[in-house]
Amino acid sequence: MSDIKISSSEDEVKTTWGPEHGRSAAGAGHFHNEINELYPHEDSGKHLGALLTDLGEKNLYDAAAQCNRCGYCETSCPTYMLTGRESISARGRNQFVRMLVEGRAKNPAEAEESLSTCLLCGACSSACYAKVPTPDIVLEGRRALNGYGENFFARAAVMSLLNAPRVFGFWLKLAYLAKKTGLPRLAASMGLYDFLGLPGLAEAEAAIENAPLRFANETLRKDPELKPRNKKQVNWAYFAPCGPNYIFTEVALATVRVLKKSFGEGVFIDNHCCGLMANNYGRLKDAREFARRNITRYEELKAEFGEFPVIADCSSCAGFMKSYEQLFTDDDAWRSRAKSFAAAVRDILEFIPAEKAGHPFPAPVRRAGRVTYHDSCRAAHGQGIRVEPRAVLRKMAGTNYRELPESDWCCGGAGAFALSQPELSKKVLDRKLRNIASVQADTVVVGATSCLAQIGSGLRKVYPSARTVHYSVFLDEAVGDREKKQ
Ligand code: SF4
Ligand code: SF4
Repeated sequence: MSDIKISSSEDEVKTTWGPEHGRSAAGAGHFHNEINELYPHEDSGKHLGALLTDLGEKNLYDAAAQCNRCGYCETSCPTYMLTGRESISARGRNQFVRMLVEGRAKNPAEAEESLSTCLLCGACSSACYAKVPTPDIVLEGRRALNGYGENFFARAAVMSLLNAPRVFGFWLKLAYLAKKTGLPRLAASMGLYDFLGLPGLAEAEAAIENAPLRFANETLRKDPELKPRNKKQVNWAYFAPCGPNYIFTEVALATVRVLKKSFGEGVFIDNHCCGLMANNYGRLKDAREFARRNITRYEELKAEFGEFPVIADCSSCAGFMKSYEQLFTDDDAWRSRAKSFAAAVRDILEFIPAEKAGHPFPAPVRRAGRVTYHDSCRAAHGQGIRVEPRAVLRKMAGTNYRELPESDWCCGGAGAFALSQPELSKKVLDRKLRNIASVQADTVVVGATSCLAQIGSGLRKVYPSARTVHYSVFLDEAVGDREKKQ
């Protein structure tokens, strides 16, 4: 029998968890037939139909029960390693979810801290022999918690992106204009965000230097080269995720330039969002709607131009779109369409072969000094992309390339994590910054926009001589230099 100590905030809840308390995976289906107020699966639309795991399609209970509590993943889990607390490790989180499904959690609020502090980074799944999909299990657990996904900011952002993206853009530009006046910094220094109970907002605002008053889609929609008229085959389609579209517009424009130069003709897939934000905020119905729209748009373009890969330049969004099938396990028609779409999705990190990346050591790469690469969680753990970007960077930077210790450890950005868990996020970031300093990197290349914001803001504070740059921008600068010489 193994004893696992689950502690939450002040209280410590000791749970004895042994074989005699377990339920067989085969018998877990009966949870769907019983009324369980802690995990009301029949509250349709709130939960996934099934989880797609490496060991096949599982209901939530069976997926969580795949965790045999061996603890092999403990040292991979940033939140556990920084706190030493079992309740905020993968093992503890999987156990909380099992207790929710079994209706045994005496107070579901106890699970709140455990589940809300998960970075969803997937490092535990990479380390786990059974490949237990802890991030998906945690998300399902969160959806069972009362009020999850109902907070004002989450609802407003998701609903306006879904139904009124121009209104979303209008408010964002207004916020950017305010940022340019310095008002948010003044509010932070006056402690207004702390007063409102949103201490992470000041950090989040400071993390983003960019305030573009022209979004990437406004530029790309007008690009005649992205609208081939003769219905011929195109070689790629660019999907602008929200980060490159609304914040780091230079990333989106660099990606399109790199794709044009390396692969010729392509199109722009105009979109509202991939749905990841809705999914992670617990708004599954909305996530499905985003997915259905993107799949439909892809199919329309495919009818016009034939098969093409869909390229995204934020690993979080690329990884999420590759998992669209999981949103539709209850819906056969949409499931197969989602599967075809997901098969076409490529992260820019995996799409550029080393031979297309230009000559080794062009001038901009030489100026970049010592170059290192941070694996974003959704690239390394979510999509298994590790080799391809390194091959390109090693070729281009040569002996100036440095391998980053713990490169696939989360940086603490994790979407809105820095906003919702500012203290824990900072601890995770500090460890990343120490690793960057240990290799004396001058340039840190990343593939996800939340890493770009998080590591960029950390370096500006403690290591300002180093620069954080998106992979596409790094390639664009190098390829641009090659072209100038020709
Ligand atoms: S998630 Fe996997 S590695 Fe971690 S404790 Fe469970 S079974 Fe072991
Ligand atoms: S997803 Fe990351 S933070 Fe969450 S349990 Fe796994 S390793 Fe820990």
